[in-house]
Amino acid sequence: MPSDSVPSQNSMNRMERYVEKYREKSGTFGHPESEVTAAVVLGLAQHIDELGRPLCPCNFYPDKKAELEESRRWVCACNEMKQFKYCHCLLFTNEEGQPITEYLPEDHEGRQVYGLVKDPTPDKGREARHQIGKN
Ligand code: SF4
Repeated sequence: MPSDSVPSQNSMNRMERYVEKYREKSGTFGHPESEVTAAVVLGLAQHIDELGRPLCPCNFYPDKKAELEESRRWVCACNEMKQFKYCHCLLFTNEEGQPITEYLPEDHEGRQVYGLVKDPTPDKGREARHQIGKN
């Protein structure tokens, strides 16, 4: 399936529900510009149709299927989100639409681009924080 194809309504609904629930669970918000969320959800839904899994649409993969066979690292919510609460697609942000960078290593690109962005809800999310450094 080409990456610019229209995703099925079923996959769109599935991703919309997932995003809403995961924001609640992780204590994050949607970007104030709704087009940002719409574009990412569309990309995730296209990947569900194409690959059966919501592979992150904001990365380049030389081979998407091989990427999925190798690991679940970039299946949404990805490892970076579950460990550091950082979403480089801006699907899960603070209320101002900035990605949370507080927990990232200082040499991570996210820290370099956005500086230190504190977590407004530190009691939520980061369900895989114990895996930091393991994958
Ligand atoms: S960066 Fe991670 S959490 Fe954000 S959309 Fe991509 S896979 Fe999902």
